[in-house]
Amino acid sequence: MIRPFAALLALAALFSAPVLAAPAADAAATPSWSIAIHGGAGTLQRKNMTAEEEKAYRAALAAALDAGAKVLAEGGEALDAVEAAIVLLEDDPRFNAGRGAVFTWEGTNELDASIMDGRTRAAGAVAGVTTVRNPIRLARSVMDDGRHVFLSGAGAERFASQRGLEPAGPEWFATERRRRQLETMKAERVGALDVEFKFGTVGAVARDQAGHLAAGTSTGGMTGKRWGRIGDAPVIGAGTWADDRSCAVSATGWGEFFIRAGVAQAICDRVRLAGEGVQQAADTVIGEVAAMGGDGGVIVVSAEGETVYSFNTAGMYRGRADSTGTREVAIFAGD
Ligand code: ASP
Repeated sequence: MIRPFAALLALAALFSAPVLAAPAADAAATPSWSIAIHGGAGTLQRKNMTAEEEKAYRAALAAALDAGAKVLAEGGEALDAVEAAIVLLEDDPRFNAGRGAVFTWEGTNELDASIMDGRTRAAGAVAGVTTVRNPIRLARSVMDDGRHVFLSGAGAERFASQRGLEPAGPEWFATERRRRQLETMKAERVGALDVEFKFGTVGAVARDQAGHLAAGTSTGGMTGKRWGRIGDAPVIGAGTWADDRSCAVSATGWGEFFIRAGVAQAICDRVRLAGEGVQQAADTVIGEVAAMGGDGGVIVVSAEGETVYSFNTAGMYRGRADSTGTREVAIFAGD
């Protein structure tokens, strides 16, 4: 028998739930666009950096931030802002992505990257690439092509040349500083995690004026990696995630742990399914990584345009900007 009163209650609950769950609208505090970037996390301490080095890193971060912010301020898409910021960081030899990537055990540079569109959760990723100047552009091409999500090695490179992406030889990626890190690691028999500036991956997250989110990450991986090792950066859900319903995340850190914790997706799922704020969700998941023995950090932008960082290392190269006038870059934990 149908009980009309119960049915009515159920119907009312159905309609009222989303209304009750909706966050209080605060138009004044909501930026129309936002962006956050990172240039890796690690043992970054002021005492180990000269004033000139610090200045150069801050300038490089500011340039990448401004490139992304310009796209968003002009009404462009979050995806284009993310790509524009990451391309600059890939071309900068200071960071472990594109030019200046860390070396594998065999003395080569193997690059990983990924990008994701929060509108549809379309994604593109590449791993183990050695001949493409900007791996983030290749990841974007994989996504735009749409047939596959994740390409690796020689196949990814064939796809890159079919798409007419700019090639680069090994000498473009190789830097003396990174070669010394590999030599130090081999000579002192220390792990990748003991090499100073062990990380340095780059990434960006953005929310555009139409309210869409995107995330991207690009890396050379970890010094001394072997056997075709792939980290979290190109793994959708681990190093990169974007979903308009919750947030967009780019991660950096000890990739094995970030894969095992499914970091980027876990953060956005906590926001979407548990109703947590982005800071709380990010801190909780980075706490899980720490409890497992890993370290690193994330940048996050929420569906409302809030940008946050969370990391358990001594520092993380990072920056954020939005339409309300926020524009900051930071390196050390206390910045
Ligand atoms: N997450 C990267 C990896 O494990 C490294 C980094 O963030 O620097 O490949």
